[in-house]
Amino acid sequence: MSQYDYDFFVIGGGSGGVRAGRLVAGMGKRVGVAEEYRWGGACVIRGCVPKKLMVYASQFSEEFEAARGFGWSVGESSFDWKTLIANKDTELERLEGLYQKGLANNKADIINSRAELRGKHEVYLKALDKTVTAERILIAVGGTPSRNAGVDGDDMCITSDEVFHLSELPKSIVIAGGGYIAVEFACIFAGLGSKVTLVYRGEQILRGFDNDIRNALHDEMLAKGIDVRLGQNFSKIEGTSTGLKTVSLTDGSSIEADQVMLAIGRNPMTNGLGLETAGVEMDARGFVKVDDYSKTNIDNIWSVGDVTNRVALTPVAIHESMCLIETEFKGNPTKPDHDLIATAVFTQPEIGTVGLSEEDAGQKYPELNVFRAHFRPMKNTLSGATEKMMMKIVVDAKSDVVVGLHVMGHGAGEMAQALGIAVKMKATKADFDRTMAVHPTAAEELVTMYSPSYKVVNCERQES
Ligand code: NDP
Repeated sequence: MSQYDYDFFVIGGGSGGVRAGRLVAGMGKRVGVAEEYRWGGACVIRGCVPKKLMVYASQFSEEFEAARGFGWSVGESSFDWKTLIANKDTELERLEGLYQKGLANNKADIINSRAELRGKHEVYLKALDKTVTAERILIAVGGTPSRNAGVDGDDMCITSDEVFHLSELPKSIVIAGGGYIAVEFACIFAGLGSKVTLVYRGEQILRGFDNDIRNALHDEMLAKGIDVRLGQNFSKIEGTSTGLKTVSLTDGSSIEADQVMLAIGRNPMTNGLGLETAGVEMDARGFVKVDDYSKTNIDNIWSVGDVTNRVALTPVAIHESMCLIETEFKGNPTKPDHDLIATAVFTQPEIGTVGLSEEDAGQKYPELNVFRAHFRPMKNTLSGATEKMMMKIVVDAKSDVVVGLHVMGHGAGEMAQALGIAVKMKATKADFDRTMAVHPTAAEELVTMYSPSYKVVNCERQES
């Protein structure tokens, strides 16, 4: 019998923490998992899941319009925000229950409390006012949205934490940021009928994504009536007597809106966690430093997920936990693989991507063949919608390996999952070419672009 209360203690009941706790408990170890808020973490409670439900909700407005072209007479429609929020909350409760059930079924202790380190093996449980000991500890506390835009009035803004609980749909909203959360919520609110302004400090939204895709999404957002202000930042936010807020921008212009949302990145939740007490090293921004196996500088303490400065995505946190279990509990040292992670941005149109952008691939490979199609998908012919789809395959000319694949359009996220396998397997363009098309689909374009649209030689496009 170990000298400790627990063989493994997890701080944080999100995707990474619960997966680790559940599997280790399932191996017969004594496991405790502490969560101070709700089970499921950012993904289930105030991230991926509620966001995706809202994306579905927001798509109906365009579907009603599209239906007419197919012969449907659509009656007057209306949207009730409170119904959406209530139904979403019911679903989240169900999922939260499943997370707890998974732990309970494997006989892990479910501890509803804030937990803080008090030493290398000591964890203080605030709600119980008690310190427990553990042989091994996992820090999986995740992140929280940044509320600091560095301007007067930023305390009046909401973030992705509050956006799922607004008492009513804002008639107008200004969103700061150009990353995942900003563009996704701009499209959600536009689809639900709000007047949306997106303010991004850079020259184009979604920095780091393929430039053609960024430009194409920007155009589609404008076409949906979203006011995208590039090269701008907030300079001040003020309340007005009517309850609206006035956002002043750095170009001197101002916008009035019901709500102002900051989507300017996320910070690790390490404040007050007692990491210093245990000697766990953090970087300058407070992210936990880990080695290739997710171990901190302290031999019995690990960390996974958004609290480490790696890739802030749910499946990545889960994968890091699985690797940790292989390494530490199964004697099979396994490093998490962060290469070629397929991802989706749930904008409207959606983006699905895996591998390198044309720009990054150009830095890595002297010569690229790029295959690109930008077309109106079949559904939009009868619906009358003008929204276009884009597909792009970036190929290293020397090896013929597909090094980047980017899709914008309906179903792009679903496609990215399957395309991710091909790219991960180092499929060549010849492999794509000999794959029979699935007809009639939009995705068939991916296997029927036989000639390069252009080459990129030493980072320069050469039209063919
Ligand atoms: P991102 O890092 O994606 O984007 C942050 C944005 O805020 C960037 O455009 C950044 O600009 C801008 N920004 C940063 N600081 C400031 C500032 N002080 N003033 C104005 N703008 C600023 O963060 P998000 O918050 O959107 O999302 C966090 C993470 O969550 C993502 O990186 C992603 O990993 C994950 N996520 C994934 C989703 C998915 O898989 N679909 C959905 C939502 C989130 P700049 O580009 O110039 O740095």
